[in-house]
Formats: sequence, structure tokens, C-alpha cells
Amino acid sequence: MNIILFGPPGAGKGTQAKYLVKKLNGYQISTGDILREEIKKDSDIGKKIINNMNEGKFVSDKIVNSLLKRYVFDPSKKEKLIFDGYPRSLSQAKNLDLLLNESNQIIDHIFFLNVKKEIIVERIKKRKILEKRSDDDLDTILKRYDTYIETTRPVLDYYSKNSNFHEIDGTMEIDQITNKIEGFLNV
Ligand code: AMP
Repeated sequence: MNIILFGPPGAGKGTQAKYLVKKLNGYQISTGDILREEIKKDSDIGKKIINNMNEGKFVSDKIVNSLLKRYVFDPSKKEKLIFDGYPRSLSQAKNLDLLLNESNQIIDHIFFLNVKKEIIVERIKKRKILEKRSDDDLDTILKRYDTYIETTRPVLDYYSKNSNFHEIDGTMEIDQITNKIEGFLNV
């Protein structure tokens, strides 16, 4: 089963992705984690993206798409993809369709975790203390949220008419969200 977790930064996509990985023996594809790993390794890609990431700006489609491709085409991950933080723009959504098509896969479920801006800001402030992420300061949070509204939210129109699209109230307790998701999985 392939799943997309969609929603603003701080909506809880990563938390639910970890649950799905266990439940479905899946593989979490967090483009944020993949990119942070490049920075940690101080790779050529890491050097190119560090400024954008710290400022809450998107990393270029070219870089993100090329990193993603490896995972979609990895036979050991086929039909086990749990996307967390991808796609984040219409062009990424179209790129994902192409990659899935080429690798003979489909998306089984898209879960949209809907959370309002004020709650996002409070959650990310807490996360900054817990995870010490350098892009979690207030200015950057607001910048990331604006980018979400401008660039990522339009992806909803692309998916929302599909029968496998499910909107979930992301302000519920973690367990309640998990139960909702589980209700759609039929496993
Ligand atoms: P996240 O961990 O999903 O909140 O992502 C952290 C940061 O990584 C974002 O603010 C972007 O700078 C970058 N990033 C993650 N995923 C993507 C993506 N799909 N496209 C472009 N940039 C991304």
C-alpha cells in the first residue's frame, strides 16, 4: 500500500507516518529528513540546500525529485511508500504521478491532516524545544506556513476529488487521528 500524508508543517504527518510504517511494514519517505541527512553528511547537495532550509524556503524540485526517485524505484520499498512532506507543489505531484506510473504503482490513500495556523505555530514552538530544529524559530515557522498556503495547498485541488482522498481533523489527539486513518485502511 502506498500512502501520502498531506498537510501544513507541524500537522503531525511524521507522527502518523511512523505509525503507518509499523502497521503496514512500510517505508517512511520524509523529504525533510532526507534533506536534513544531506546537510548532516555535508554532501554537495547538503551544501547547496542548507541556506534555503534554514530560511524555511523550498529546496529546488530538481534536487528533491532526484533524491525521491531512488526510493520510488527501490524494489524493496515497492508498494510500501509512506510519503511525508512530498509532494509539496503541483509540479511535484505531477512528477510523483510519472514516477509511480513508470514503476507500476498507484497511491492507495491520501490523508490530509487539517490544522489551523494558530495551532501550528504553538506546536512548532514546542517542537523547537524538543527537537532543536534550526528552521523552527517563529519567523521561519510563519514563512513555512505562508509557503504552504501559496504553493502546497493548491495540491489539494489536484487530489481532493479522488475517492482515496480523506480529510482528517489534525487537531484531534494523536490516537484519535490514528484510529481515523486505520478506519480507511481496511487492513
Ligand atoms: P519538513 O521536515 O517536511 O518540515 O521539511 C523541512 C524543510 O525541508 C522544508 O521547510 C523545506 O525547506 C525542505 N523540504 C522538505 N520537503 C520538501 C519538498 N518536498 N520540496 C521542497 N522542499 C522540501
